[in-house]
Amino acid sequence: MHNKSLAELAKGLQAREFSSEELTSSLLDRLEEKNAELNAFVTITRDNALEQARAADQKIAAGEAGLLTGVPIAQKDIFCTKGVKTTCGSKILDNFISPYDAHTVENCNDAGLVMLGKTNMDEFAMGSSNETSYYGAVKNPWNLDCVPGGSSGGSAAAVAARLVPAATGTDTGGSIRQPASLCGITGIKPTYGRVSRYGMIAFASSLDQGGVFTQNAGDAALMMGVMAGFDPRDSTSLDRPVPDYTATLNESVSGLKIGVPKEYFSEGLEAGTAEIIQAAIKEYEKLGAKIIEISLPNSALAIPTYYVIAPAECSSNLSRFDGVRYGYRSDNVTDLESLYVNSRSEGFGAEVKRRIMIGTYVLSAGYYDAYYIKAQKMRRLISDDFEQAFKQVDVIMGPTAPSPAFKIGEKTDDPVSMYLSDLYTGAVNLAGLPGMSIPAGFDHGLPVGLQLIGNYFDEALLLNVAHQFQLATDFHKQAPSGYA
Ligand code: GLN
Repeated sequence: MHNKSLAELAKGLQAREFSSEELTSSLLDRLEEKNAELNAFVTITRDNALEQARAADQKIAAGEAGLLTGVPIAQKDIFCTKGVKTTCGSKILDNFISPYDAHTVENCNDAGLVMLGKTNMDEFAMGSSNETSYYGAVKNPWNLDCVPGGSSGGSAAAVAARLVPAATGTDTGGSIRQPASLCGITGIKPTYGRVSRYGMIAFASSLDQGGVFTQNAGDAALMMGVMAGFDPRDSTSLDRPVPDYTATLNESVSGLKIGVPKEYFSEGLEAGTAEIIQAAIKEYEKLGAKIIEISLPNSALAIPTYYVIAPAECSSNLSRFDGVRYGYRSDNVTDLESLYVNSRSEGFGAEVKRRIMIGTYVLSAGYYDAYYIKAQKMRRLISDDFEQAFKQVDVIMGPTAPSPAFKIGEKTDDPVSMYLSDLYTGAVNLAGLPGMSIPAGFDHGLPVGLQLIGNYFDEALLLNVAHQFQLATDFHKQAPSGYA
């Protein structure tokens, strides 16, 4: 059962081929066994899951079930889950049991989805390899010596290893698309504001966006239907109707104008990855799309801009973790100052501290104009590039990441080389656009993802374009050996 897609499992449940309780308990057994080697889950919620599954079975029996009632999924541990530990990959939240559900979690519960557990992630979603997690690195199921990408590495590894058919993620600079690429699965980060950030622990609020990992685009369309929508509790949530993302999956891509940015094929891109991406774009040409070379002239500014704005916002967001109201508190406290200093010094990991320091620096009175304001201006230039491009083309395509998965430990001593993992993804968050990564091939046995970037609110188009590729190819159907 474990290798079936989300849609296949939903069909099986509706046809009463198996009950949600049977499905849930068999996936839990497999998950518990495989998680020992992958470390993809921080918390497995067996009892809650079985309870949700039994409730789903009753709904199915009563004829009150929705499309996805009874299908198991996982939530990234950045989403608050009522009564369940929510750590955000950090020691500072190791003892935190959320008193409420995130909007996304509520939506998934309302749809009857069964949560099997919470997935491992880089601490506060800061990272590209899942190595900054307080709970240890996650292994890439394609090669256990390699990283799964980050920050949503646990979710990506879980879907790639067929532990769950879908898992949620968040993407601030690439954290859905890059791990999707490195794990050979489908990942979508919608337009900023499309999925509520309520109850999604904040990293960089103007960039953070929830999304999902699945085996294929059709399943992503189903999940987006559940997750997207207006939420008055998030002031940046957009009040726009949610289309039926599955309705347009089968539209032809003939005549579609695909822009390929020349800047995405220069320095920094590995040759093996470049070849796979070029071949995938050729595949679209065969399907009748028109390929147009475009320019995004400010692409090189994306990383420096992102690494000013994201730390600036995180330094402010993370000031709430002070050891007073909830979370970790140091034992070594003599006065108020030592309470703050020691709780934060002991509770946060090195990468989080580095970002808080950079953020505090760029926001300080003396450097605000030179760094933060400058970065905001660069952000505008980057958005303008996309705006110009979308006057000429319908979607933009290129690599998701500069290389396939790298080895665990390979980049931990070199933050800048780690930051370059977001070379092609960060700009999309700076502009607030939707993006996807879909499996496009393998380089020495490791998956490579093709990135699709759409105009604002073009999630349905992206899913359609991804689905058409998946009808013509079978990269997305391949599972790592040992997990098939
Ligand atoms: N890798 C990027 C970072 O370290 C992006 C993380 C994310 O999207 N959450 O900040």
